[in-house]
Amino acid sequence: MDMQHAYCSACDQEVRIVVTEGPVHGGQPMVSGGPEVVCLDFGSACTGAMCPMFGLPSIMMGVRLARSGLRSEAFQAVSGPCPDCGEVVELKVLSKDFVYCPACGSRSRWLHIQLDEEEFIALGKETQPRPEPREV
Ligand SMILES: [Zn+2]
Repeated sequence: MDMQHAYCSACDQEVRIVVTEGPVHGGQPMVSGGPEVVCLDFGSACTGAMCPMFGLPSIMMGVRLARSGLRSEAFQAVSGPCPDCGEVVELKVLSKDFVYCPACGSRSRWLHIQLDEEEFIALGKETQPRPEPREV
């Protein structure tokens, strides 16, 4: 896998870019498969709604990175039932609004509520249509 470095104007630093072989799901290429560009430095520095390097919503880059499994340590995980497939999994936290399900590849909304000593996590379906639209 080729790694390239590029300057990202959103996080004002050099980021690492790779092109993956395409997403796989359960060992099988997903329907929307195909090589895709993944930024390995997606994370807290991505504060904008858009990724300026690729003209994608930032959250989409988070989904790609989570799906690629290249930096699973970069994501916080919360366990809970995926609103989409119903499996209880370690959902990857993409942002304060979204989590990613490694079992079915869907993206869900979540809400983290902290009450005194107790934490609550609310999960809900993301309303956007799936699969992810291919950019042209
Ligand atoms: Zn799922």
